Parts: sequence; C-alpha cells; structure tokens
Amino acid sequence: MADNPMLKFVGKGQAYPEKRAADDRADDFLEISRSFILDKAEEQASRCSQCGVPYCSTHCPLHNHIPDWLRLTAEGRLREAYELSNLTSTMPEICGRICPQDRLCEGNCVIEFSGHGAVTIGSVEKYITDTAWKEGWVEPLVAGKPTGQSIGVIGAGPAGLTTAEYLRAAGHEVHVYDRHDRAGGLLTYGIPGFKLEKDIVMRRVQRLKDGGIVFHENFEVGRDATLEALRDKHDVILIATGVYKPRDIRAPGVGAPGVVKALDYLTASNKAGFGDAVPEHEDGTLLATGKNVVVIGGGDTAMDCVRTAIRQGAKSVKCLYRRDRDNMPGSQREVANAEEEGVEFVWLTAPIAFEGTDHVTGVKVTKMRLGAPDASGRRAPEPDPGSEHTLEADLVIKALGYDPEELPKLFGADDLSVTRWGTLRVDHKTMMTSVDGVFAAGDIVRGASLVVWAIRDGRDVTEHMHRYLKAKAKVAGERVAA
Ligand code: FAD
Repeated sequence: MADNPMLKFVGKGQAYPEKRAADDRADDFLEISRSFILDKAEEQASRCSQCGVPYCSTHCPLHNHIPDWLRLTAEGRLREAYELSNLTSTMPEICGRICPQDRLCEGNCVIEFSGHGAVTIGSVEKYITDTAWKEGWVEPLVAGKPTGQSIGVIGAGPAGLTTAEYLRAAGHEVHVYDRHDRAGGLLTYGIPGFKLEKDIVMRRVQRLKDGGIVFHENFEVGRDATLEALRDKHDVILIATGVYKPRDIRAPGVGAPGVVKALDYLTASNKAGFGDAVPEHEDGTLLATGKNVVVIGGGDTAMDCVRTAIRQGAKSVKCLYRRDRDNMPGSQREVANAEEEGVEFVWLTAPIAFEGTDHVTGVKVTKMRLGAPDASGRRAPEPDPGSEHTLEADLVIKALGYDPEELPKLFGADDLSVTRWGTLRVDHKTMMTSVDGVFAAGDIVRGASLVVWAIRDGRDVTEHMHRYLKAKAKVAGERVAA
C-alpha cells in the first residue's frame, strides 16, 4: 500500500519560513519572512491530520478548502493546490501574508490543540500562490458574455476589488472609484511593506485593469460626484469605502504640532515607498528619523506605526497601552516582531497631557491598573493615583482605531441609513442599503475588521448584486416586449 503523504505531525515538527534577522530587517521595508522552498512547503503541508471536521476551514471567514489544498501540496500537485485555493479567495497570497492565522485557521488547527503545533497554513498558502504567479498559472481576468449592465464600485479596497472582479467575470461593465491615486485601499496605503510588499498588491490591481475594469483614481465621491449622480450612471452601486475617521484623545495639548494621526503617518511612509514625493517627509512632520517617538494604542495599527518608526531611524520608539500585554487587541506575533526590532512597550500606561508650546516635547502619562471587567468583558483600566510622569517625545502618533465617516452627509444622500455606530445599515438578507440598488460591504458595514472579512463580504455581495441585476434586466426586457 502506498505511504499516506499526510498525518506527519508526530515525526515532522512545525516550521515557519525563516525570519530575517532583526538588525537586517530594521533598515528596509521588505517583508520580514523569507518564503518556503518546495520541499519545506510539501513537508509542512504533510503535517495536516485531515481531520473529519476541519476547524481551520470553519474558522476561516472564506471557508477555504484548507485540508484539501494542503494534501495537494504534500502530493506535489502544486498547480491544483493553487487552483483550489483560488476558488474561494480573490487574493490568497495576500491573506497568506497578513491574516491573523493564530486567531483563525492555525489557532483552530486540531494538532495545535494536541500540542504538536499547528500546520503553518498561512505560509503554505502564500507559497502556492506566489509559485502560481511565478509559473504563469494565474489566469487573466476574462469578462463573461456582455450583459450590457454597468456597476459602480466606490472604494478600491479588498471588498470593492473582490466584487469588481467577480462582477466583471460575470460580463458586467465595472467602474471602480477611489479617492486615492492608487487602488488597494488599506492594502496599499495602510499596511506597511514589511508585512505586505506593494508589488504584490499592484500585481492584483493590474490584473483587474487588464481584465477591463475601469479605475477612476483620485475620484472622491462626495467631492467629485454625489451618490445620486453615480446611480444615474450605473445600474447598481457598491459602497465599500472602509472606515477612516480616527478616534481621538481628549487631553490638554493634543493639538500640538508633532502629535499626528496614525493613518497620515503610515500613508506618507507607503507613498515614499512607491518613490512619490512626500512633502511631510521633506519637512519632517511625518517622519520619525532621529526622533523620540511615542505611539499610543495597542492594536495592529499601533504595531505598524512603531515598526515603521524603527525603519525610519527613530532615536527611540515607545508604545503606550493602557491595558497589559494579555489584554491588548493587536497580534502577539506583531508585538514579538516589534520587540525584536527594538520597540519598548510601556504597558498599563495612558496619556493625560501633551507638553510643549511650539512643538510637542513630551507626553505626561499615568500608570493604570486593571479593575473589574467592562461591557466588553475585558478588565477596565483605571488610573493609579500619584503615578504621573513624563516621557520625552518629539513625535507622538495616535493609533486608537477608526470610526466611519458620515457618509450620508458626505455623499449628499440623506436617505442612506446608518447604525448608531455610523456604519451603513444593510438588509442582511440582501446586503442592500436603504437606497434601492445601492449595496455595501467591508469595513463600512462591519466597522474596522480584517482583510479576509472584506474579501468574504465582497464575495457575498456579488451574489446579491448579480441577482438584483438579473431581475432588473428581466423587468427591462418585459417592458420592451410589451
Ligand atoms: P479599505 O481597505 O479601507 O478600502 C476602502 C477604499 O475606499 C479606500 O481605498 C479609500 O480610499 C476608498 N474611499 C473611501 N471613501 C471614499 C470616497 N468618498 N470616494 C472614493 N473612494 C473612497 N487586516 C488584516 O487582516 N491584517 C492586517 O495585518 C491588517 N493590518 C492593518 C493595518 C492598518 C494600519 C489598518 C488601518 C488596518 C489593518 N487591517 C488589517 C484591516 C484591513 O486593512 C481592513 O479591514 C480592510 O482593508 C477593509 O477593507 P475594505 O475594502 O472594507 O476597506
């Protein structure tokens, strides 16, 4: 009987691709992990136990067929592995790089629970799709038979791009509007290159452009057109604009020069990475070089800021978080990477004032202690009296999360309903907003979330939009016939 290629988790240990040394990677914005080589990808895939109920797949928002493509990889059938993984995801190589696998597929892998260490699913996913690109297995986007119907997608992030791809493949004319000069949303201008190199994103965007999707860059809905004007132009609209209103701190001195917003800081850095002229780098306002940097926040955005500051050559980088390490929302993997690169985490500490007259010179902070659990179930931090002190700072980056912008006002569309959190209210059976023919997906519906959820929403909303368009075409056909 042929040897079973799978279930090798007892004999073969868990391995991730090698990470570049911290002092090497702290000088550039290239990804920190090297890729698997073929033998290693096959070996790691062969550790999968092929369990009857694959929790990895259940806990993947896309329900990727993980055990099946791991098996194909272990058998050396890489092209089929790629084809299968591509069936459920529009950007598997991106998810392989930036999904928090420790909380999703890998965190729920059965062999993780049995103490053998999860299959390194994300790294295998990245490997098979990178190989597909290299080998030319990634097919061009081919538009289906023309339907004569036109779609307007507002927002070129992962949600909007996913819908654009699927609806183009179904034969519709697709126009994507984005206020930035490049598509990709937070994949392009939020997430730094050391987590996701930009040519990986641009390669995906180019494939969509080559497939006939029309991109209108530097086009801000609200400034360059109202929602109504786009509705007149297209048969159906998708709003996938993400969430961009930064949460602020209420403390004296918060408006001082040198206290900046995380996304402004990261966007400037990503633009510089593309080789663009960045005035805020030239005048130093959004550059950490030679500065004592304090980043406030404990989520993934804060982690991206501290690690960017290291790469820009900051004198010191501190991350302030009001809870402790166990209660932070950001990924532990990213904290470990940041610590290796020289970031100092100041746990249980919150800002109470920003010092300096012409420019920030320091952050006055208080120590915090954890009290009783709050409504979210996490222990609420409370100030520890008498513990106030000042941390030296010439650049303070606020990374406290994002809320939705006021879309009804921005889009000139009072009939667009929102929830009490400001996210767009959709009918969950159809994903349509309160405005007929206007659908919504991604962070603007969920609130700040994950790339993989944006892709899932983009996939789901496609079905609803397609059904709506078919019904619309049928009514139009009946009218002509009558
Ligand atoms: P977005 O990606 O935000 O795209 C929305 C697009 O709409 C943008 O391009 C924007 O320019 C455009 N837009 C907005 N308003 C208008 C308008 N009026 N007119 C025209 N265009 C408009 N998730 C992960 O899974 N892993 C990570 O490692 C990770 N890291 C992150 C790091 C940072 C710094 C941030 C901020 C988020 C991170 N996330 C991460 C979250 C993830 O990026 C988002 O959940 C995801 O990008 C949401 O996709 P989206 O398509 O809904 O919106």
